[in-house]
Amino acid sequence: GGALEVARLREDFPVLARPMNGQRLAFLDSAASAQKPQAVIDAERRCYEEYYANIHRGVYALSQRSTQAYEGVRKTVQRFLNAPDEREVVFTRGTTEGINLVAQSFARPRLQPGDEVLITGMEHHSNIVPWQLVTEATGAKLVVVPVTDRGEVDLDEYRRLLGPRTKMVAVVHVSNTLGTINPVTDMTRLAHEAGVPVLVDGAQSAPHIPVDVQAMGCDFYAFSGHKTYGPSGAGVLWGRFEHLSAMPPYQGGGDMIRTVRFEGTEYAAPPQRFEAGTPNIAGTIALGVGLEYIESVGRERIAAHEQELLAYADERLAEIEGLRVIGTAPEKAGVISFVLKGAHPHDIGTILDMEGVAIRAGHHCTQPLMERYGVAATARASFGLYNDRDDVDALVRALHRVKEFFG
Ligand code: PMP
Repeated sequence: GGALEVARLREDFPVLARPMNGQRLAFLDSAASAQKPQAVIDAERRCYEEYYANIHRGVYALSQRSTQAYEGVRKTVQRFLNAPDEREVVFTRGTTEGINLVAQSFARPRLQPGDEVLITGMEHHSNIVPWQLVTEATGAKLVVVPVTDRGEVDLDEYRRLLGPRTKMVAVVHVSNTLGTINPVTDMTRLAHEAGVPVLVDGAQSAPHIPVDVQAMGCDFYAFSGHKTYGPSGAGVLWGRFEHLSAMPPYQGGGDMIRTVRFEGTEYAAPPQRFEAGTPNIAGTIALGVGLEYIESVGRERIAAHEQELLAYADERLAEIEGLRVIGTAPEKAGVISFVLKGAHPHDIGTILDMEGVAIRAGHHCTQPLMERYGVAATARASFGLYNDRDDVDALVRALHRVKEFFG
């Protein structure tokens, strides 16, 4: 229990000790990708220095050790998500690959012309385009639940649009642009009452709030290692075993088969069936260490800390005239998108950088959402467990500089 000792935790992240443009770095772009603690960096390095070899095939000790370390991460993920079974943990490159896997292997064979895939207006491109690919290929239709002015999924519309033609629901748990925490448990219950399976895009929830896939009730949950303080190019798709067992492979190759003959191939059981080829061995091992790091800090405490920072930032940003926050849902994670009268978000980002403040400017891979709010881009500050009030103060100070600059 108790508050995070942020000053101590910051020491775990070597990059945070490095000055940026001569200033203390205020890293406020963890929604894009998080910084890495020493434990993650060490885990990846140790793999290569001490026991690296290809996995699953070798009879020699090194390969067995690599295999054990890689396979051991499934248990870590199982615990992290409170999944019923470690065989439900598929290692991927990231959220994007997990969603594409479900779209192609699970949804596509079930889609007929006229069927519908239901998503929301606040989805990341990686939870839009894969569904366009499969709906266009099958003659099915992509249906979008609108987003309210405050940045919430319109639940009345969701209920209305969830119909007999809906074959799949795909929804983001926490919006990377608005910060909105969606009521995915209720949305899943409603979908299941209509007999519709649900994929939850967990890219922004896994790093920031407790996640329990059994309590959530969803069918699939995808997240990325690089946002959970682990390496890029490593991620997780969790899926119910009954679904995974019924799904054809996503890619073919080595390591996903039981027997191969030219006349036909028998596939391995899940999760191996979905892990063709040599995977990101060291990266996956380090992903596990990133999750352990989150667990050691404590997800309730991380969430509470980021909530406290969010409230402080909202209060401080309110003092800046002409600044408008986009996304004001009551249930929000530590993401603040804003526009500032008279300053383009990219110019804001550039001036802030000179002050040592790293934020994101752009459409955040949510172009349809930008259109919904009538803006081409926003500036976005987002928090990780290592941020503190000094970072928020630096942001506010730098925004005053932006205002001076643009008169
Ligand atoms: N969904 C959301 C909500 C995201 O924020 C992101 C990453 N910005 C993704 C999906 C895609 O994740 P990745 O690029 O790691 O595959």
